[in-house]
Amino acid sequence: MILDADHAVVRRLRVPTERERGYEWIVGRVGAVVADLLEDAPGCDVVGIGTPGSPSRRTGLLKNSNTICLNGRPLAADLEAEIGMPVRLENDANCFALAESLLGAGRGHELVFGVILGTGVGGGIVVGGKLWSGPQDIAGEWGHHVLDPAGPPCYCGARGCVETMLCGPALEAQHVAAGGPPCDAAAVAVRAAAGDERARVVLDDWLDRFGRALANVVNILDPSVVVLGGGLSNVAALYTRGRESVARHDFNDELVTPIVQHALGDSAGVIGAALLTAGSARRRRGT
Ligand SMILES: [Zn+2]
Repeated sequence: MILDADHAVVRRLRVPTERERGYEWIVGRVGAVVADLLEDAPGCDVVGIGTPGSPSRRTGLLKNSNTICLNGRPLAADLEAEIGMPVRLENDANCFALAESLLGAGRGHELVFGVILGTGVGGGIVVGGKLWSGPQDIAGEWGHHVLDPAGPPCYCGARGCVETMLCGPALEAQHVAAGGPPCDAAAVAVRAAAGDERARVVLDDWLDRFGRALANVVNILDPSVVVLGGGLSNVAALYTRGRESVARHDFNDELVTPIVQHALGDSAGVIGAALLTAGSARRRRGT
């Protein structure tokens, strides 16, 4: 995506990364997208990129990515070599939180906790319009808080992480484990809303876990707003029964924190990546 200096979208281009084809393939795919977009951004001299995981400030190597072939690789340096210009690389949930904080549902709030609920679970923290990624670049990584030490194994090495209990594939698996037919996570929510008792019980358990997990974050950060993104943020019950679950586990007599849906659509992460380059380019690109 290309943004102009006023954050208006000049052009967008979406291609699958085909991560199953490995690290070099992904780097090449990103390079090809940038080369294509460059034709419409001749003044561009820096590229912002959002990725699962985060680059280690100490080694420059990527870590903590659920696209595990990226881990241990110098992704920023390799992308700079592929693209031929500087890149600003940041965790994709951080990019989402930055975009929603500055341009979306978090506008006007001092501390924004941005949440990705989709095939993975991530989070990002923006304070006063600036990303807080922390000295270890792990700020906001609630997806690897442990909810159940006896839960399913996670790629990070732990068991029962928030990500493995709350992601879309987890909800689908929980529905099948309860005896329901295979269907995607959104369909589980639709079934529950339509009166399917089994789907309702599965969804309520999932919403309770959501509340426990998010309350752990709220109890530490006490954010001004929580903005939900990712495919599962469309589940309407998150904002009613899910919110009630957060309130049950919140360390306060009432939950006043707004929990709202994103405002920038599924491009928020890419917009946030482009915003990483603020002040350093006449035209900005997020990938
Ligand atoms: Zn984990």
